[in-house]
Order: sequence, then structure tokens, then C-alpha cells
Amino acid sequence: MARYAYVNGRYVPHDEGTVHIEDRGYQFADGVYEVIPIIDDRMVDAAPHLDRLDRSLSEMNIAAPLSRKVLELVMRELIERNGVSEGLIYMQVTRGVAPRDHKFPKGVRPSIVMTTKKVDFLSQKKLSDGVKVITIPDIRWERCDIKTISLLPNCMAKTQAFEAGAYEAWQVDGDGNVTEGASSNAWIVTADGKLLTRPATHDILRGVTRQSLLRIAAEEGLSFEERPFSVEEAKTAREAFVSSATSFVTPVVQIDDTVIGNGGPGILSGRLQGWYLDYCAGLNTKER
Ligand code: PLP
Repeated sequence: MARYAYVNGRYVPHDEGTVHIEDRGYQFADGVYEVIPIIDDRMVDAAPHLDRLDRSLSEMNIAAPLSRKVLELVMRELIERNGVSEGLIYMQVTRGVAPRDHKFPKGVRPSIVMTTKKVDFLSQKKLSDGVKVITIPDIRWERCDIKTISLLPNCMAKTQAFEAGAYEAWQVDGDGNVTEGASSNAWIVTADGKLLTRPATHDILRGVTRQSLLRIAAEEGLSFEERPFSVEEAKTAREAFVSSATSFVTPVVQIDDTVIGNGGPGILSGRLQGWYLDYCAGLNTKER
């Protein structure tokens, strides 16, 4: 089956999609992106992902390349053409093409690129077995709430994690508190059973999965709090996990050299994962 990409108004074979060498995304990482998972033929939480795209664009003063309605039509068309029933859709909007000059140019048309990827998420062993994370200093900028394509520190963090045999790197601020992973939000369950995740300030990306999990936690009557937690607190936690559009709820069983809980995925993490996957499959969490 042919695989297509959407590039600035055209559906083109994936391998033939190209952008201009003076696209500001290529030269300055001057752009933003979104990743939306597709489970069972449905996009999960498309609306909040597109809301966040709008916010990232407006924070960066980049014009919207398409209206919401047209964007949704293109997304559906690309998913259909590529026959994706399990996987993801990736979209990237950059400020556009202009002669290389640091300051933002005026009157340029934003560029948009959209691709899809087939991934059999639900059979991934990390969901059932859990993963290891390492902790590293957070060296990023002060607007981590913007989902920019400027991801070099995140790439460095992920590479460090990979080289240490870990799945993710939990970044740590100057006060010794965990901010978030390189591509996921960080959570713990304290010794007294409280779910904790860092508040969504400018220090972290306001994960769409994170927001859905907070809603589910409230619906299920779980005790939770949005507050920073230290590496020390994480290492003595009963459970830990990460959340993102492509890792859903992935249990964390080891942080650096410290085994979490009994070394296996925690009970509450497993429940949240189940509730969240039911939600992704279109099942009302209250009607399980
Ligand atoms: N934090 C960072 C730095 C990310 O890159 C991501 C996802 O890519 C997340 C958190 C999780 O966000 P979401 O749940 O919207 O995928």
C-alpha cells in the first residue's frame, strides 16, 4: 500500500515529500508540532491536541496554516489513504520560507507537513513489563509548555537514556525536582497512595494524556495532587509511571539504580493504564 504525506496542500508519496532549504523549520527549528495516537480506527483526544497546536502557534506568533475544519479533513484523508487503524498522525507547522535571518519575517505563509505511521501500540511489552528511567539535569529553556520542534535537549536526553539501557530520562530542575521526561510526563504514587504529577506551568508540556488521566483520576475518586516532587521522593515512591500520546500509561519499575516498589508495575498504574486504554477504545470509563 502506498504511503502518503501531506505537504503544503498536496498529498505526495511519503519518500518524495520535500520542503524548501530556507524553510525556517529546517534552519531555526522555528515551528511547532503535534502527535495524535490512532487506536481502533479512532484518533484519541484529537480536539485537545489541536487546541494545543493552536496555542503553540499563537505563543510563537505563527499563523494557522489551515482552518480547524480543513485541518481535520486533511487528517482524516491522510489516515484513510494510508490505511492506518493503529498508529499515529504527526503534524508540523513552521513559520515558512524566508531568506535566512534570525528575526521573524513578516508576511510569510506557514508550512505544514503531515505524516502517519502504523504502530501496534497495544502489544508493546513496555506497557505490561514497565521501563527503567534515568535522571539528568533539565537543560531546556523556560517555555517547555510550547510544543516546539526545537528538540535537541530532548534528543540528547533520550540518547543518554538509551545508552544507559533506559526508556526515558526524567529531567530535574535546580531544586532537585523532576520536571518531565524527554517525551512524556512523569508521575509517582506516594507511599500513602497519592497520585502526584508536576503542575502544568511553563516548566513542562501540558500533556494531553496527562490531562485525560487527571480527569479519569477525578472520576474514579482517586487521591491526587499536582505538585513538584523530588528525585528522592520518586525513588521512595510506591509506584511511578510516564504518560504520553504514544506511551499511554507506561509503568516505571526502576529510577537510576533504585528499584521502585517490588520491581514490577504498580497496581494503581495498571488500573490507570486499563481505564485510559478503555477510554482510548471509546469505552466510557464509568461503563467498564
Ligand atoms: N512532555 C514532553 C516533553 C513531550 O514531548 C510529550 C509528548 O510528546 C509529553 C510530555 C506528553 O504529552 P502528550 O500526552 O500530549 O503526548
